[in-house]
Amino acid sequence: MKKLQGIYEYAAQMTAKGKVATYIPALATADPNAFAVSLVSMEDKIVFGECTQLFTLQSVVKVFSFMVAMNHHGIKEIMRYVDVEPTGDSFDSIVRLESHNNKPFNPMINAGAITVASLLPGETMHEKVKSVTLFLEKIIGKKVHIDNEVYLSEYHAADYNRAIAYILQANGFLKSDVEEALQVYLQLCSISVNVEDLAVMALYFATNGKNSAATCSKEVIHIAKALMFTCGMYNASGKFAAFIGLPAKSGVSGAIIAVVKNGTIEHLQGPIGIGIYGPAIDQVGNSVAGIAFLTQLSKEFDLFCL
Ligand code: GLN
Repeated sequence: MKKLQGIYEYAAQMTAKGKVATYIPALATADPNAFAVSLVSMEDKIVFGECTQLFTLQSVVKVFSFMVAMNHHGIKEIMRYVDVEPTGDSFDSIVRLESHNNKPFNPMINAGAITVASLLPGETMHEKVKSVTLFLEKIIGKKVHIDNEVYLSEYHAADYNRAIAYILQANGFLKSDVEEALQVYLQLCSISVNVEDLAVMALYFATNGKNSAATCSKEVIHIAKALMFTCGMYNASGKFAAFIGLPAKSGVSGAIIAVVKNGTIEHLQGPIGIGIYGPAIDQVGNSVAGIAFLTQLSKEFDLFCL
């Protein structure tokens, strides 16, 4: 455990280099020094830091809502609404909605995720949100809740996302009205979890879905992992792929999931899921300590997946 403990302690110091997100007022109250990591294999787990702390998924949920929508409609239909190409732009960027046939580039940026929210199965907003929470509950094996304070805080500061949703609607890439798509998307971002839940969510990809009761076609899991690899870490995805080399997804709450398909980390072996919570984020929106931890971890335990 010494090597891993050392990596954790080194990365924990990096929290000082980041800042908590403030554009969603409720996220501004997070403890900038918090840093928790959970690693789980099929047999065992390792935890560092405060693992009971709850936080919201934010953009991490985008992977799961995309999978639910794609399982429901099929690959071809979803691809009519959202592409699988990286952008190199910030997650909330609006500029490319005026080019490339106006289709959102991928479901890991806000534009694509708002489109996906409108495509979720269900007649009502509640049913659409439920389709994703049920999927997550099957993966994690317990109930999840929406943090209403974070949801309302973001809903009242959602001008950018609302603007994106209106452009999507104007170009025919919303299947519900603007308010419904926006509210579904923001409620999903506000799902509350702890770092161990994140690790189990990551393990779902590492095992190609074999660690839980949640069903998803293998093709969809592959697409989700490819999207995490190419677009999961915002406009630092290329660097993350080049220097860390793991499918991963981050959220502005400081959450990260990272997927080790087959590795050995101390006494953990085989598929390993990694969950990280470190709310001090960099300018792109990724947890500073989380990136430091994964960079060192990948190097020391030879985890690069390609
Ligand atoms: N709910 C956040 C937003 O729409 C999610 C962004 C993120 O985690 N990158 O801005």
